[in-house]
Amino acid sequence: MKEAGQQFVADHVSGLPRSGIRDFFAIVQAMPEAISLGIGEPDFVTPWHIREAAIFALEKGKTSYTDNLGLIRLRREISTYVENNFGIGYHPEKEVLVAVGVSEALDIALRAVLNPGDKVIYHEPCYVSYSPSIKLAHAEPIAVATSAEDEFGINPERVIEAWEPGVKVLLLNFPTNPTGGVTEKAKLEKLAKFAVEKDLLVISDEIYSELTFEGEHTSIASLPGMKERTIFLHGFSKAFAMTGFRIGYACGPQVLIEAMMKVHQYSMLCAPILSQEAAIEALKNGAPAVSKMKDAYQRRRDLIVRRFNEIGLKCHLPKGSFYAFPSIQGFGMSSIDFCKGLLEKEEVAIVPGTAFGESGAGFARASFSTSYERILEATDRIERYVGSLG
Ligand code: PLP
Repeated sequence: MKEAGQQFVADHVSGLPRSGIRDFFAIVQAMPEAISLGIGEPDFVTPWHIREAAIFALEKGKTSYTDNLGLIRLRREISTYVENNFGIGYHPEKEVLVAVGVSEALDIALRAVLNPGDKVIYHEPCYVSYSPSIKLAHAEPIAVATSAEDEFGINPERVIEAWEPGVKVLLLNFPTNPTGGVTEKAKLEKLAKFAVEKDLLVISDEIYSELTFEGEHTSIASLPGMKERTIFLHGFSKAFAMTGFRIGYACGPQVLIEAMMKVHQYSMLCAPILSQEAAIEALKNGAPAVSKMKDAYQRRRDLIVRRFNEIGLKCHLPKGSFYAFPSIQGFGMSSIDFCKGLLEKEEVAIVPGTAFGESGAGFARASFSTSYERILEATDRIERYVGSLG
């Protein structure tokens, strides 16, 4: 028998999978002794001076809506920050939109540009929301696998091969959730050339860019001719440890920002004013705190990767983000069974690679946004578990 209300759910929504991560963490929460390497958010609390800015704003009675595009003071800070850190100049009044996290920025970008039946190429394993967000925009996702041989960087040849008539958007994310892969400038140049040739719009989610440990992060939007065909997405959740503030932004050509604005103003209206005030402080004075957190992540990354390789779980060095993506092949188990067994026997939670797409089979995501000591304990437990598998 159908559950009450089921007949009203839209077909394209009932067809979406539930997030595999959510199911998994419902189990973890009921286990007080468990060590979670599963969560995709910083274990640091937002730096005090940023929280204080939100408190001051509240104290001053700043409780109103803002301009739909966001406070102009914030858009000016974003424009300066993006120019200084990515070398791309955006006009604060016309080319910047403040959104409720990169999640909303991505959603409105997709909904603003996609017609029913359009196609979007994205790379996998990827952030869990990409394929559902594309489908919610009534478009068709085309996944291109990245692989351990390429250290999970985007392989332009594979992207080019995946092209077919109807592709309108190329969706990129690096450093990548869940693999920590990054894509070097030479490969980006190939992708840029391809985007121009096929007249594609690039949507580039660069939310982990400050957490690049090896080499320099390059934004595709900074390459010649690409600013005009790229929507650059960024936010505060990861590097500034501000997940709960729900704040991010999009920069791009004025016409596209205006199109996104139409979707945004009729749905979200504006991002919360207190979060916008906090974001201004983050951009103005947050760099030392970001750098301190980054150093901590890098130390933990080196530990977790070393331990995984010692244990026999082959793990490439993630060049960015706060995720390691070790191989769990060779035990004759699916990634889900491996992770379930680990949780049951040793109370350590990591996320099966398949939660991030089929190409994540044989891998698992372990987040190092938890303390050094807990990573040490967790990897000891994983070693015991792997030993028990024989
Ligand atoms: N993009 C990627 C690649 C992510 O990993 C996440 C969160 O895990 C988001 C976007 C969501 O960001 P926000 O908190 O700004 O909505």
